Amino acid sequence: MRRIDFTNTQVASSETARDINRGVVLNLIRRRQPISRADLARVSGLQRSTVSVITEQLIEEQWVINGPTGRLPRGRRPTFLRLNERRAILVADLRPEHTTVAVADVNGRFFSQEAVATPAHPRTAANALIARFKHLMKAHPDLLFEGIGISLPGRFNHATRRVAFAPNLKWRDFDFHAAIESATGMRVELENAANACVLAEVWFGNVDRVRDLVVVTVSEGIGTGLYVNGHLAGGLHGMAGEFGHVPLDLEGPACACGSRGCWEVFASNRAALRYYNELRSEADSLSFQDLLRRAEAGDGAAVRALDKMAHALGRGMRMIVAGLAPEEIVVVGELTRQWQRFGPVIQAEVAAGALVGDPPRVRAAEGSMARLRGTVALVLQKHFGPGALVFPERKAGGLAKRAVAAN
Ligand SMILES: [Zn+2]
Repeated sequence: MRRIDFTNTQVASSETARDINRGVVLNLIRRRQPISRADLARVSGLQRSTVSVITEQLIEEQWVINGPTGRLPRGRRPTFLRLNERRAILVADLRPEHTTVAVADVNGRFFSQEAVATPAHPRTAANALIARFKHLMKAHPDLLFEGIGISLPGRFNHATRRVAFAPNLKWRDFDFHAAIESATGMRVELENAANACVLAEVWFGNVDRVRDLVVVTVSEGIGTGLYVNGHLAGGLHGMAGEFGHVPLDLEGPACACGSRGCWEVFASNRAALRYYNELRSEADSLSFQDLLRRAEAGDGAAVRALDKMAHALGRGMRMIVAGLAPEEIVVVGELTRQWQRFGPVIQAEVAAGALVGDPPRVRAAEGSMARLRGTVALVLQKHFGPGALVFPERKAGGLAKRAVAAN
């Protein structure tokens, strides 16, 4: 049965109808490329003439190009359409220790990627990014740069366009995008890393049927991105999803947010390193990757530390399950490299807390690029339409018809 999303209902002027149809066509091309105009009309339910007008405009704007010529048993050979891979996006994923900077195309494929140290001060960090972005633009003169997407371990207030909360970066209430925008001449989209991962799942993953999904990013801290009833939850000041800072034990270790015993001080990468050092009663300044390697090599203390972290992760997820009842929880982070070992620990903890019915599916994100791919989607959704990202082709027909009817 086709489910139609009425939560997005708005008064459709002919302009919004055009925008919706354009988003529908762009997304169909993105998901089904190469695709002929006839198939675009058939799948979208739009008239052939409407599809022609939209695709001509998209070709003119260089979002879409004529792809290969198709083969039919008889008659005219259709020309297929596909997205223009020369349309590129500059992206960065900020983490407390390092920042990954990359160039991606509209399909979320990366041309280049590099890691640089993250400066301690936001102004210095912005200047360092400007230098990298300018260098990348020079290095790829053949690409048409569309915008900049940045994910960070903090919350971005879309109303004030300021970073409101980034305890693990120790940055507080600042404007990060203005300097980058004026230096590069491109619009900058900023988003919380976990929210960016939700966008990566919705845009590039296979979650068509999922309307309630939570992404948990596990790194220096813990972030969650909430996809509720087919929408990314923002909340007041853009602060929705700070489960990582719910105190579970007020006598617990100090947290970067100023409180004590938050979920993240028990279940983050830093927590596992602390457990490891406690078990060995000597402080080693090793990285989380080192800890994973030691566990793989059979270091019992490393395995126990990671196991403790996995239990804490799963127990904390019960808050998410009780509060939001998602269909799926997707874990993003280095720990997922040993998902076979620690995934079941997390799943068992979640299942033990299930109130009614089956617990949600808990899985690792595919690949290690979720944060960066999410920043690509962050920029693209400005052009492909905010609605278009939540209803792929299955629902496109219904929407397009509504849009046409309003025309
Ligand atoms: Zn905290």
